[in-house]
Amino acid sequence: MKELHVNSKCILSGYQPKNGEPRQLPIIQSTTFKYDSADEMGKLFDLEAAGYFYTRLANPTSDAVAAKIADLEGGVGAILTSSGQAATTFSLLNVCGSGDHIVASTAIYGGSFNLLSVTFKKLGIETTFVEPDATEEELNAAFRENTKAVFGETIANPALAVLDIEKFAKVAHSHGVPLIIDNTFATPINCRPFEWGADIVIHSTTKYLDGHATQTGGVVVDSGNFDWMAHADKFPGLTQPDESYHGKNYAVDFGKMAYITKIQAQLMRDLGATPGPFNAFLLNLGIESLHVRVQRHCENAQKVAEYLQAHPKISWVKYAGLPGDKDYELAQKYLPDGVCGVVSFGIKGGREAATRFMDSLKLAEIATHVADARTCTLHPASTTHRQLTDQQLIEAGVTADLVRFSVGIEYVGDIIDDIEQALENA
Ligand SMILES: *Cc1c(COP(=O)(O)O)cnc(C)c1O
Repeated sequence: MKELHVNSKCILSGYQPKNGEPRQLPIIQSTTFKYDSADEMGKLFDLEAAGYFYTRLANPTSDAVAAKIADLEGGVGAILTSSGQAATTFSLLNVCGSGDHIVASTAIYGGSFNLLSVTFKKLGIETTFVEPDATEEELNAAFRENTKAVFGETIANPALAVLDIEKFAKVAHSHGVPLIIDNTFATPINCRPFEWGADIVIHSTTKYLDGHATQTGGVVVDSGNFDWMAHADKFPGLTQPDESYHGKNYAVDFGKMAYITKIQAQLMRDLGATPGPFNAFLLNLGIESLHVRVQRHCENAQKVAEYLQAHPKISWVKYAGLPGDKDYELAQKYLPDGVCGVVSFGIKGGREAATRFMDSLKLAEIATHVADARTCTLHPASTTHRQLTDQQLIEAGVTADLVRFSVGIEYVGDIIDDIEQALENA
């Protein structure tokens, strides 16, 4: 059969029942798996045979969903995690450790910014932040001998800047390191970063992939394209024997599956951010309608952005689908089918007007969430980004008057009516 369209993959990839088997993905709600002999189980522990023995390391339900997401992104393999934060953490810790360095875009999720600038720093991993629109020269200047990865977001949450993935990939590769992309807001429906040279993709599946605000989750997907052996000195964890696994050498023994196998065998084993099988099942249900939902999210958000842009009480609107937006050209290139459902804007009257507006909304809910079926809104400066200084806020593209508005898939006329009545009160 010829390669399926990404829309079909949302439904069909990952799990294909055989004759007489359940049509829907079964939930294997079991911590453990039984074997007839110690020797059989021993082979699994040695990574000599494929099979399940303990759900912290792998579970059939979770694996089927990971395989579906890998297929959506066009990757060779993937692993689910218990949150998006865990996915970011694992994607980076898999290639760097104490004494290493990361280059990251400033326009990233607040949690990722804290992870890099605070927690990784305590672990001895330093990060140099670069503007998403940095020139190649500026990007080159951020690299050091010990740089091990470049990190950015396709569409930054909440700044909504679009990353020039091709440029970042080119520079990363010229320094012999992989480009890791957080593709949460774009989803593989609107952008598949591997097609533009990214090596690894992560998602907070908590957002559009789940789509219904039922569970937190994450995923790390590998393109299989980065040649670890060609940069063996930089990545000893992947290219030299792992003594904690009887001298297995991930790059040599697992080829294109090296990166994902190492996350599973080492990071999941030792840090254990495993999703529950039932959560993986819910995630799979969400993904079955991802392509339909994302299309509607984008259509609605485009209309909301256009409405806001024309409103006299709005001082600015950030949405890369608006002609004239700073990132419009990048969006045309990387996101030709639609941007995302999230729009941000400033209300005249700053912080206070923004708060009055939010309190006056009836349909839209105030929630620390984005990217699910229900329209919801948030004031980042007083919530998700409150740990950041004013200067860091500006660097992250978040001003004090910024309202992040996640447009749901309700009837768009109702969403706009709600905004209209709330703006009258603002
Ligand atoms: C929410 C989010 C994360 C973190 O995901 P959690 O599932 O909340 O841990 C990471 N990146 C982006 C872009 C996000 O929106």
